[in-house]
Amino acid sequence: MTVRLTLLGTGVFVDDEGRRNTSYMIDNGKTTAQVDCGANVPDSFCKLYGREKFLTRPDAILLTHTHWDHAGGVSGEELAIINELRPAAKRRKLIVAGEQTAIENLGSRVQADYDFLPQYGEGYLDVERIPLKPTDEEAFRRLALKLGFKNIEAAETDHSAPNLAYFFDCGNYSFGIGGDGRLRDGTKKLYGGRVKFLAYEAFHFGESTRTHQGIEELVDFCISAGIPHVALVHMDNPARKTTSEIAYHSQRARERGVNVYVPNDHDSFEISPGGVVYMARNP
Ligand SMILES: [Zn+2]
Ligand SMILES: [Zn+2]
Repeated sequence: MTVRLTLLGTGVFVDDEGRRNTSYMIDNGKTTAQVDCGANVPDSFCKLYGREKFLTRPDAILLTHTHWDHAGGVSGEELAIINELRPAAKRRKLIVAGEQTAIENLGSRVQADYDFLPQYGEGYLDVERIPLKPTDEEAFRRLALKLGFKNIEAAETDHSAPNLAYFFDCGNYSFGIGGDGRLRDGTKKLYGGRVKFLAYEAFHFGESTRTHQGIEELVDFCISAGIPHVALVHMDNPARKTTSEIAYHSQRARERGVNVYVPNDHDSFEISPGGVVYMARNP
């Protein structure tokens, strides 16, 4: 299985000099799944794929946590476009899966944004919600089956809201997408020695805080855990501008067999048993 992972956004929670909120489109050749949908992500999606692509993608939206830079955009424009534009004949239920609070907040947010919706009731939205908690293996198995993965797993990070870091098993290799928050022992176990590619919050230089991941510590983890490719996303603006420090950490990682990427919006990665290919500004 070859997976194309496209960055819909790479930015943080505030207006980030034109960067959209960090989010991803995963295309595994069978289905497309979007991970996170921050407030400004639907706009990014339309620029990249065109509004008409809402007819066929995504099959699912996976939410890491309830913060608006990760789940704010799914409440409004995106759900509305999906439901209005998908022709009845092709209409499939959009799967919205993820951290429980994020899923629970979805209904109230949609109603707040679209006050005409209550007259149609819940069914109008045509959404299948799958709340996930790390121990509920059955829900993950069901989701993996629907999306064409061998399995999907998750573990919690340290963040100011409960956040799920995801693990996707493609059969002969695996990759991970972390959402927000500092690595915990459980997250390290989820990814360590298991993933070929990891996209993870790399918020700032200096030590990790209670709720955010420090860059040095992330690079150290990837080196010690033998993770050969890591994409640093959701980086705060001052850190992104210290290019010499980023170059230093990329170099020390490369010398220890770890490739570090700092992608921009709309870049993509092709992940396959043969390796990982980074494509800037694609497709
Ligand atoms: Zn965030
Ligand atoms: Zn957050």
